[in-house]
Amino acid sequence: MILFKLASQLQQFIQQQRAQSKIVGFVPTMGALHQGHISLINKSKTQCDVTVCSIFVNPTQFNDAKDFEKYPVTIEQDIYMLEMAKCDVLFLPSVEEIYPNEIAKNKQYDLGFIETVFEGAYRPGHFNGVCMVVERLLHIVNPNQLFLGQKDYQQCIVIKRLVELMKAEIEVVICPTSREENGLAMSSRNKRLSDEMKDRAKIIYQSFNKIKKDIAANNAAELVITAKESLLQNGFDKIDYLSLANAKTLAPIALWDGNTQLVILVAAFTEGVRLIDNMVLN
Ligand code: AMP
Repeated sequence: MILFKLASQLQQFIQQQRAQSKIVGFVPTMGALHQGHISLINKSKTQCDVTVCSIFVNPTQFNDAKDFEKYPVTIEQDIYMLEMAKCDVLFLPSVEEIYPNEIAKNKQYDLGFIETVFEGAYRPGHFNGVCMVVERLLHIVNPNQLFLGQKDYQQCIVIKRLVELMKAEIEVVICPTSREENGLAMSSRNKRLSDEMKDRAKIIYQSFNKIKKDIAANNAAELVITAKESLLQNGFDKIDYLSLANAKTLAPIALWDGNTQLVILVAAFTEGVRLIDNMVLN
């Protein structure tokens, strides 16, 4: 694996690859890698000639400074995992390399409705920060394909919109959520949970599966209430949202017409850690 810390050197390398008609796949991450990230690398390797992973903990997408400070950093282990996965390139930039001037930090993106709900509502400015870093990374890496995890469902919609706004010819590939054996969605934040809570947090996946199995036009609201109660009885102490939404637009849905494609989305706290997850239901 080749490690680049400077954007200019990576750009030069990519230009050479693209001049040889190589297909470049890109997996942006914030590090503290787990098998979920590696599944994206693997997917890219099946479809692309060159796979680039970036590790950059982006300060502009954290609306809570403490969350940024507490974000796990495990760079040596990350490099080892990427080597094992036969990733071709790691881009490991500094903050100055990504944000060389203040202007880049203040750009505003027109994301529309999607920015006003769920993560957008609970983490003001978060998606704008995501767009800033992803736009910059896409300019540097100039990939043919971009690999994202469904784990961050709303982020996938936002980044698809960003790629449209950029008028970039980049195919966005959404990869399924990798889960622990008990169903807990893999996340870098899980490292901050006790072993007991890692086990109890399976309640999210179990509740989603129950909703998926039982949902009908007349019981949607009731099922959501029961799922919230289950989380609160199983070690979660605060739920930002647990809600059904239109799977395409993310408009929240209280009364389901029995047809619209639905996604269930959650953000909930336990042991001071905020976990998110989702499942497409039909
Ligand atoms: P992060 O490092 O958390 O910003 O995630 C980097 C990329 O990995 C994003 O596209 C995430 O959606 C994706 N990702 C994170 N967790 C998982 C998971 N459990 N399964 C699949 N993809 C994931």
